[in-house]
Parts: sequence; C-alpha cells; structure tokens
Amino acid sequence: MEKIERETNYCLNCKIKPCANKGCPLGNQIPEFIQQIKQGNDQKAYEILSETTVLPGICGRICPHEKQCQGSCVRGIKGNPVSIGELEVFVFDKAMEKGQTLKEIWKNKIEKTKKVAIVGGGPAGLTAAAFLAKKGVRVTIYEKYDYLGGLLIHGIPEFRLSKQIVKQTIENILALGIEVKYRQEIGKNLALEDLEKRYDAIFLAFGANCSSKMGVEGEELEGVYGGNELLEYHLHPNYVGKTVAVIGGGNVAMDCARTVKRLGAKEVKVIYRRAKEQMPAEQKEIKEAIEEGVEFLFQNNIVKIMGNKKVEEVELIRTKLVQKEGETRLIPVNIQNSNYKIKVDDIIMALGANPAPFVKDLGLHLTKWGNIAINEKYQTSNPKIYAGGDLAGVKGTVAWAAYSGREAAKNIIKVIEKEAY
Ligand code: SF4
Repeated sequence: MEKIERETNYCLNCKIKPCANKGCPLGNQIPEFIQQIKQGNDQKAYEILSETTVLPGICGRICPHEKQCQGSCVRGIKGNPVSIGELEVFVFDKAMEKGQTLKEIWKNKIEKTKKVAIVGGGPAGLTAAAFLAKKGVRVTIYEKYDYLGGLLIHGIPEFRLSKQIVKQTIENILALGIEVKYRQEIGKNLALEDLEKRYDAIFLAFGANCSSKMGVEGEELEGVYGGNELLEYHLHPNYVGKTVAVIGGGNVAMDCARTVKRLGAKEVKVIYRRAKEQMPAEQKEIKEAIEEGVEFLFQNNIVKIMGNKKVEEVELIRTKLVQKEGETRLIPVNIQNSNYKIKVDDIIMALGANPAPFVKDLGLHLTKWGNIAINEKYQTSNPKIYAGGDLAGVKGTVAWAAYSGREAAKNIIKVIEKEAY
C-alpha cells in the first residue's frame, strides 16, 4: 500500500496527459483514475477504467508499459515513470475483492432484439462482447476450445499471467449476459454463411496462431518447432538436459525461452538479428529471462539448420545494423565470412504468426500478409462481417487487440441501431 501511495503522489496529474492520449492504446483515463486512488476512492477508479477497458487486471500485468503508457509518462523524462501498470492492477484486484462488477457499474440490460455473433473468445472477442452487451445487444461468443481467453490462457505462461486473473476477468464479462457456445470452429462445425443468416453482425477474432516459417534449409528437420503451436498445444518434447535455440525477439520468443528453461533445458539460447535495444519484447521480460539463465545471441542471423533427420547443429552469421534510406528501423545486414556453427538439440521458431490456412476460403478480402483486410471501422469486404485482433493484423499486444474489439463494437452498434429505427 505504501508503494501505491507513493506512486499516486508521484503522478503530476498532467493536463496534457500523454500517458493516456499518446501511450495507452485504449486511451484509459490514467491521471483521472490515479487521482481517485489518491483520494481513497478505489471504486470510482475502477468505474473510470471500465469506461475504456474490460481487461485492466490483465493489461496492468502484461502490457509492455515501457512502450505504451509509461513510455509516454512526463515523469519518465528525467527519472522513472509512474508505475501505471501496478496501479491498474491495484484497482482491478480491489474491485474483485469488493465484488464490484461491470454489470453493476454499467447497469446493462439485454433488452433489444439485435444479435451479434463473435467468433473467438480472446482479448479482442471478449472486449467486443462486453461493449456490445453494455449497449443491450444480444451477444453469442463461438469458441473453438472449451474455455475462453485464447492466448491469455494458452499463449502466456502462468509465471507471467495467472489463469485465476483471466478467469475472474472472463466471469465479470460473461455476467453481462453473454452467451457462449464452446467447441465451435469455423471450417469444422461452424459455417460463416450460417452465422450471416442468423445474426445482424459478426465479429471475427479467432487469432492468428500458425508460426511463420523462415524459409531456411533444414527447417523441416525433426526438432524444429513453431513457438505459437508449442505454447498453444503444450506439445513440448522432453527438454531435460538439452540445448535449445529460440529464434526471434518478441514476447513469444521470451515466453518460449523461459518456458523451455523451466521445463529442464540445460541451455537456452535466444537468437535475434538485431541488438537488445531493438528487441520487440518487453525489457522486463528480457531482464527476467537473463536472470533465469537464458542466453542471448544478439545480432546473429540463422543461415541453415543441419542434422541427419533430426536437428544437430545450426549455422549462424553475425550481422551489423545499418540505416537505410526510407527505413525507420535499423536493418541487420549479414557480415560476410562471419559464419559459425553451434550444437543444438531443438529449435523453436518464434518469428510471428499467420492466420490458419482456411481463412483464405472465407470469401473475404485478405491483406498481402494473409490477414483479413478491414477498413477504419474494422469492417471486412463483407459489410456485415467485422474483424479484429491478430486475425486482422492489428498490432500484436493485448491492449491493441482489446482496442480493436471495443472500436468494432462501437461501429457495429452504430450500424445495427440505425437499422432498428
Ligand atoms: Fe501522471 Fe505520468 Fe500521466 Fe503525467 S504522464 S498524468 S505524471 S502518469
């Protein structure tokens, strides 16, 4: 509590509030909720947060704050920023402790006849469902697993986000009167055309979880795995005593590296083309991974994977970073003749993810990267169908996924309400 008090006093309650206006994807009213905690009004703080987000307990814990709200905090110019994430967690946890719910704050009543189907119960789908239900829309979530949460459950390890927090968040959202149909999957037992006939609008948010390939020689060898699939399906091999290379620099790479280390690997080496400062993963995650014994080979690129059926070695090449015209980021360029080999037992590719192959058969326009193409209203090439989150190529953080769900919900409401009168 002392820390909370110190942090709320440390906030300058800035008028321009860059933390909220520039840093937070959701536009949470940060100084306003902090002021309420300072005045001892935790309940009001939760009400303020709930105007823009239904995931404060999650975002407060796992957002890359240093790149979002805290990265824009005025206090951060000369010293440490305000610990906004911790304050958000404090408010959510207090609200749950006191039994404060979204239902009670929003006083929502499902009274209208308009119906919306949501496919996928991850952060984008759950947020869209909540903001639609807030306005009285009848919402049904179609979920492929027998649990909701998506990557919040299977993509983020327990050591980074407790399942209990996700469960509490979901219960709070479902209490708004949202119906869920489990084990429903497009392309298997759920048809988009069928939903189109039965609902006034559809929001697709079933993610993109097929690990991208690098296209290097030897990628098909036994012992080369996709990071997203490992986290989603838990089909880990036995890592005990092994040397494992993780390729990539984002949070999925960090989650894989730390998970593999916990599962008994002797050595875990993260191989990343750029320098530490350019890693998309949160600095906190990198620091914790280092503390846990994960090694980093920065400015190293993978050339080929070698082995007889099964991975044995990987050839790497060192890179230098150069500024190229028209590029906003430093570009890694291979340093000629700097190749070398390291022995590895397994390789995990954590280089990003693409939507499942069946997405191209949905009859919707796609982007050149294979995501569902959307306009500024999150509407697809079929005006009745909206899409968000990773599936639509929205920036890969939970807060951005949630933002897409909330904004899609607002646009859907505008359209279906107009149709109602
Ligand atoms: Fe407080 Fe930092 Fe936001 Fe200013 S920028 S209102 S100091 S959290």
